[in-house]
Amino acid sequence: MNIILLGPPGAGKGTQAHRLEQQRGMVQLSTGDMLRHAVAAGTPIGLKAKAVMAAGELVSDAIVSALIGERLDTSVDKGAIFDGFPRTQHQAEALDLLLADRARKLDHVIELDVNEEALVDRITGRFSCANCGAGYHDRFKLPRVENTCDVCSAHEFHRRPDDNEQTVRTRMAEYRAKTAPILPYYRERGLVRAVEGMASVDEVARQIDAILDGAPALPF
Ligand code: ADP
Ligand code: ADP
Ligand code: ZN
Repeated sequence: MNIILLGPPGAGKGTQAHRLEQQRGMVQLSTGDMLRHAVAAGTPIGLKAKAVMAAGELVSDAIVSALIGERLDTSVDKGAIFDGFPRTQHQAEALDLLLADRARKLDHVIELDVNEEALVDRITGRFSCANCGAGYHDRFKLPRVENTCDVCSAHEFHRRPDDNEQTVRTRMAEYRAKTAPILPYYRERGLVRAVEGMASVDEVARQIDAILDGAPALPF
């Protein structure tokens, strides 16, 4: 099973991808995480991507498609969760080729349906565990014990430099201009399933599970 989680910044893609990894052994392929690692390691890709990411603009299609291709060659036997990729029509076509070359296919494109204004609050309150990457929120998901990760008990947390209101607005605009327009490409193939992304984390999880477990698509 290979799925795409599609939605604007803050829609809940990473939160749901982490859960699916833990519960189903699927593998999250997040181009955002891959790029952040490249920036932290100071690789040639990281050096190119750093300023683009800080501005909230999109890194080149060639770079992110190559990153995904490399990761698809490692073990993703129980399925891949594409999180934050594809973000352009060109990337969507590149993904089709990468999957076809490996005799894999796309099973679902899960569209997280959200209200953009509420997402600014989600993103400016977001932080994550510096050790295991578990995601938290100042208001919606605080660690159960103050300053202690629920998953690994670490005490260090991290906030992304691009999670500020101004950059978020640019990221939303990029989503509207370049990413939302790829939905028809997948709709034509009957792959798109919408989920109510403004519901609670558990309710969104329940809706995604119903899709993965084969609930029939509602006619629209
Ligand atoms: P994305 O990967 O799509 O950018 P995240 O999964 O990182 O989004 O979620 C953004 C922030 O919103 C995080 O702080 C997360 O804890 C919180 N969050 C995720 N899903 C929900 C939800 N359904 N309701 C409320 N807050 C959520
Ligand atoms: P979010 O889902 O919270 O917006 P990501 O972690 O997916 O954030 O992406 C962070 C930044 O990394 C983006 O704003 C963009 O600069 C870059 N990026 C990530 N994935 C891609 C992609 N597929 N194509 C182009 N740029 C990307
Ligand atoms: Zn942790």
